[in-house]
Amino acid sequence: MTPLDRIIRERIALDGPMRVSDFMQICLLHPEHGYYVKNPAFGVQGDFITAPEISQMFGELLGLCLAQAWMDQGAPEVFHLLELGPGRGTLMSDILRATRSVPGLHRAADITLLEASDTMQKRQQHTLSGYQVKWISSLDELAEKPIFVVANEFFDALPIRQYVRVGDVWHERLIGAQDNQLCFGLSPVAQTADYLQTRLDDTQHGDIVEVSEATQSVIGQLSEHIQTHGGYALIIDYGDWTSKGDTLQAVVDHQYSNVLHSLGDADLTAHVDFEQIATACHCAVSKMCTQQDLLERLGISHRTQTLVSSAANEAQKNDVISAYRRLTHEEEMGTLFKAISLFPQNGPCPTGFEA
Ligand code: SAH
Repeated sequence: MTPLDRIIRERIALDGPMRVSDFMQICLLHPEHGYYVKNPAFGVQGDFITAPEISQMFGELLGLCLAQAWMDQGAPEVFHLLELGPGRGTLMSDILRATRSVPGLHRAADITLLEASDTMQKRQQHTLSGYQVKWISSLDELAEKPIFVVANEFFDALPIRQYVRVGDVWHERLIGAQDNQLCFGLSPVAQTADYLQTRLDDTQHGDIVEVSEATQSVIGQLSEHIQTHGGYALIIDYGDWTSKGDTLQAVVDHQYSNVLHSLGDADLTAHVDFEQIATACHCAVSKMCTQQDLLERLGISHRTQTLVSSAANEAQKNDVISAYRRLTHEEEMGTLFKAISLFPQNGPCPTGFEA
């Protein structure tokens, strides 16, 4: 039994069954035993690997995309260059390297990182030691200036609630304890939120739908800021337009594990529902596209060729080709991962997202 197992069972014994969202929040960010607070292993050897850890090409292309959006909006002289959930800091480091020669951009950029875990913050501090960086723990801390935002695999870590359709009503899926084991059950009270009523049209008895209030709240704040002060947000994550089914998953050491086991030792995520992101927006939102389409439109094939032709040896060449494949191929991250962007109403549609 992990320390979190004990803590969660005690809480259930005291307060009764727990929402999936509270369970995720505790497992990921408990101040002492949460996955991201302990010493999360990600990167090539870790539990999971993210796109920026696969290749520098990912951050370079997104950096140029952000720089173009900044120029398209008149190159504001002060702005927040904001990343949500920066992990090891690799993506921001690649973005900054790729945009070094964009005139005026670094001078104008107030590099700002939203990070909930002190452990991750220390890693980011190390990776970005050559830059002046500010950390925030809430979007309320943003100043009244444009924000150019990137978020890769951030929203999949935000808590979700799950609802199960029983006949024509919805019950919330809860985590309780039976025979000294954690188990899933259903809330006794039917849920009648408007959103759940609309999902009666495309679901059947027994189906699960997921709602992330945390995602809706972050998107609400970001989009209001973009609409009022200008800016742009580029969001990449795994998921699809409309969530259906149980997508909560636990990964330890590149292997799926039972979500109710290894609490605090497993990375817990859920697929991102891009329709819920679009619906929560108070500014303009692009069409959703696949990571493959976005990276191809931003020139990843060309960048791959350049890196291949300057590779020092055969092994380096193969690394670049294999990274290109992992980022764009359908059987890898190419179509499972999607992208969407937020920008001011009546502003230009950002590069890479043209319909
Ligand atoms: N974007 C990075 C890492 C993704 S892992 C990459 O592409 O490699 C998720 C990151 O989000 C971690 O840094 C984690 O500590 C942070 N995080 C998770 N939940 C958060 C929350 N509620 N608020 C702020 N940061 C959070």
